[in-house]
Amino acid sequence: MITKIIDEELIQQTKEEILNASNIVIVSHVSPDGDAIGSSLALFQFLKIMEKNVTVIMPNAFPDFLKWMPGCNEILVYAEKKAQADKAIAQADLIFALDFNTLHRIGEMGTVVADAQARTVLVDHHLDPGGFADVVVSYPKMASTSEMVFRIICRMGYFTEMSKECAECIYTGMMTDTGAFTYNSNNAEMYIIVSELIKKGVDKDAIYRKVYNNYSADRFRLMGHLLSENMKIYPEIGTALLTLTSAELKKYNFRKGDTEGFVNIPLSIKGIVFSAFIKEDAGMVKISLRSQGSFPTNKFSSNVFGGGGHLNASGGESYVSLDETVKKFEAALPEYKDLLVAEIKKGTENA
Ligand code: 5GP
Ligand code: MN
Repeated sequence: MITKIIDEELIQQTKEEILNASNIVIVSHVSPDGDAIGSSLALFQFLKIMEKNVTVIMPNAFPDFLKWMPGCNEILVYAEKKAQADKAIAQADLIFALDFNTLHRIGEMGTVVADAQARTVLVDHHLDPGGFADVVVSYPKMASTSEMVFRIICRMGYFTEMSKECAECIYTGMMTDTGAFTYNSNNAEMYIIVSELIKKGVDKDAIYRKVYNNYSADRFRLMGHLLSENMKIYPEIGTALLTLTSAELKKYNFRKGDTEGFVNIPLSIKGIVFSAFIKEDAGMVKISLRSQGSFPTNKFSSNVFGGGGHLNASGGESYVSLDETVKKFEAALPEYKDLLVAEIKKGTENA
């Protein structure tokens, strides 16, 4: 039995919005990850079965390791097909905003969505949802937006209509947002849902291989360089910092997705409870933060970099140099010393 976590009224409102719409657009966040693509394509597969005219639009490209996903060839990348995407948004009766909380998270597409005539339904699991949507289905306690899409489809009464392709997309989002069920994954119902997805024909082992055993040799050379040359450890506060410049990325033929998961690596080191990965990106410096236990990376991120995210996984952007960004990071650490030390202590007690 799966608990009815999502409010019945929100389910009915979402259903009504879908039934009333013919042209539906689905959008998700910049640098879409497995949950962004998974939840969007799952909903896309479902709405196609409902005979809707559906367009999925992502602000920018998505990593190669997701390029097997059913329906991914039909995704419009805003950065590449702006005119076509603008037209689809202008003609939409309904826009689904998935896996992000504020329009800032979808880049320049944000103003286009804000100006659109369409009704908007937000389905998301980040804290602090912005007030831009007509229907706000926001559940920060959920491990993934993909799980929310599963729950919504079922609660609307369409479990039978859920295709194997839709189930594969949901599974992928659930898997990637929990690090293959290694964090945020103690909710027993998650495994009831996985069981239902497997009954739909999902081959979970194959999906794992497609997502995680699909990297280039260059990625591992870059990882080797990163760990041997650019990993700084602050042992007394259980913190690790990884950095990469664009010159280093270029040297190792960086392709989108190559640095995926790097930020998690230091958490495998005994005594490390907080890990940061700071890398030069197009026109900015990108910060990724991860933690073990209850250290609030999202608070750190919003206080220091104006970013946000979840307790254990968050990020931000910086518009000063990499060196300056690192200095900002290091300058902020003393303020969090007590929390970090308490977290290390907890880890030792559990060992
Ligand atoms: P990642 O480190 O994988 O890029 O991001 C992890 C999580 O942090 C994302 O799911 C998202 O919730 C959040 N996040 C990443 N970058 C940003 C950002 O620039 N601003 C905000 N508000 N959240 C971010
Ligand atoms: Mn997500």
